[in-house]
Amino acid sequence: MNPCLFCEIVSKNAKSEIIYEDDHFLAFEDIHSQAPIHFLVIPKKHIETILDADADILGKMLAIATDLAKKKDIAANGFRLVINCNRHGGQSVYHLHVHVMGGRWFTWPPG
Ligand code: 5GP
Ligand code: ZN
Repeated sequence: MNPCLFCEIVSKNAKSEIIYEDDHFLAFEDIHSQAPIHFLVIPKKHIETILDADADILGKMLAIATDLAKKKDIAANGFRLVINCNRHGGQSVYHLHVHVMGGRWFTWPPG
């Protein structure tokens, strides 16, 4: 069994609410939503953290994130993208993902 939760979601062995899929990326709703809109975009390939990702993957992942933000109608009001990295960054799932959150105001600085 694959120990990575997001690899399990990619292989459809774990359930998720998928909102976008292509050959190399997947986007799905976050199970513990922190905003009216909160979804994750991930590469299908298992990459542990942003430290292990190249510019091509990061660029495509962000382009998908912003395209979906437009489709979800949160672009004009604004939204927040978050990539947590390692312990101090608060990463809990070690398969690269960008959070896309919108539909409410966000504060700065973050907690
Ligand atoms: P991180 O803390 O690593 O930046 O974010 C991991 C995110 O994955 C969290 O926001 C968490 O709610 C989400 N998550 C954890 N387990 C699952 C799951 O089984 N399904 C979905 N859809 N999201 C999950
Ligand atoms: Zn994985």
